[in-house]
Amino acid sequence: MDSSIKTFMSKIEFRNAHEPEFLQAVYEVAESIIPFSEKNSKYKINKILERIAEPERVIIFRVPWLNDKGEVEINRGFRVQMNSAIGPYKGGLRFHPSVNLSVLKFLAFEQVFKNSLTGLPMGGGKGGSDFDPKGKSDAEVMKFCQSFMTELYRHVGADIDVPAGDIGVGAREIGFLFGQYKRIRGEFTGVLTGKGFEWGGSLIRPEATGYGVVYFVEEMLKLKGDSLKGKNVVISGSGNVAQYTAEKCIEVGAKVLTLSDSEGFVYDPDGIDTEKLKYIMELKNSRRGRIKEYADKFNCQFFAGEKPWGIKCDVAFPNATQNEVNENDAKILVENGCLCVAEGANMPSTPDAIHVFEKAKILYAPGKAANAGGVAVSGLEMSQNSLRYSWDREKIDIKLKIIIAQIHQNCVKYGKEEDGYVNYGKGANIAGFVKVADAMIAQGI
Ligand code: GLU
Repeated sequence: MDSSIKTFMSKIEFRNAHEPEFLQAVYEVAESIIPFSEKNSKYKINKILERIAEPERVIIFRVPWLNDKGEVEINRGFRVQMNSAIGPYKGGLRFHPSVNLSVLKFLAFEQVFKNSLTGLPMGGGKGGSDFDPKGKSDAEVMKFCQSFMTELYRHVGADIDVPAGDIGVGAREIGFLFGQYKRIRGEFTGVLTGKGFEWGGSLIRPEATGYGVVYFVEEMLKLKGDSLKGKNVVISGSGNVAQYTAEKCIEVGAKVLTLSDSEGFVYDPDGIDTEKLKYIMELKNSRRGRIKEYADKFNCQFFAGEKPWGIKCDVAFPNATQNEVNENDAKILVENGCLCVAEGANMPSTPDAIHVFEKAKILYAPGKAANAGGVAVSGLEMSQNSLRYSWDREKIDIKLKIIIAQIHQNCVKYGKEEDGYVNYGKGANIAGFVKVADAMIAQGI
């Protein structure tokens, strides 16, 4: 490790001991920003990266609620308000048993760069709880969400901090959270994004992350004179992001071979087509079922407890969760001829996996660039709420495509190396950093 990166990291490690995910995210960014700051002294003198790596505020709170048996349950709630240099804090809420401060700080840190990349005025934040919606009744989820917002309402607002969904937080949860905010505050404002269209939400928001990842891949391939048409793709996950990645891949003529959940993955060598995807959406969204049922219904293989990275493909979309692609998975993908890895999830590749992709010089799109379409359309939802108006699908889809193309262009601008290889990780970090850093300098210490 370069000595200036080492010095920087030892300070961050001292302050954030026992937060491995957060340290991993900061290290990945430091690898490109420290050398960049060495050459641009204003960022070094102002200790900008060190300031970005310290949240402006962290709120931790108790969430008590009553389960269907009438018993008291307690969860822990969080909101990490990471950086507000370029706009109100913005970022999702994650409800999952793995949620802790380290996970939310890494997500909030990534969000600062991602939101900056969109070109929209949004700072970075993230929140959530160790509550597990899996297996809970609608009434239990409602009671939990109401209790969660009964504390969170005092820390958020349309011009202060605007949460949205993430893992475990979809349309149902956003509805319950919004209802409680409105009940307490007595005002109808754009305090959350991902709302239902009938009550202030934006068209294309449910599709935006998945569509955006595919648009990003199309941009990367276009630069190489190629496209997704006829490509074999492997997708992990089967939630919102995975579903709409699959939908757009099918639309542009790629063949979707896999989808997964925490129990394993399904491999359909004939390809998951529109009809089969419709079944998955119904299975996951309405019945909250497991992906294994797909294998039973369409008579294909289910690999219990495994990830799909061993399936030969041209493009891989890690769309499930953090650290789902390790060094060995990355080597297998490269050996099997994978041309491109695009992250629909946040930080799904370990640092060693990223180094494998970069060494092999395959196209690698980090989550903060590739999955920025979701928060970009959240930004457009905020704009529509401010206007008290709603735009049609076509207009939002065009805006989404333009934003993704601009992010891609910025990654190329800052990430192109001497031999012509585009290091998208480095490009995304520097492009995201510069805007936030300049705003921080302009606003003083
Ligand atoms: N959770 C999403 C993300 O990781 C979306 C956040 C938002 O829309 O605010 O970017």
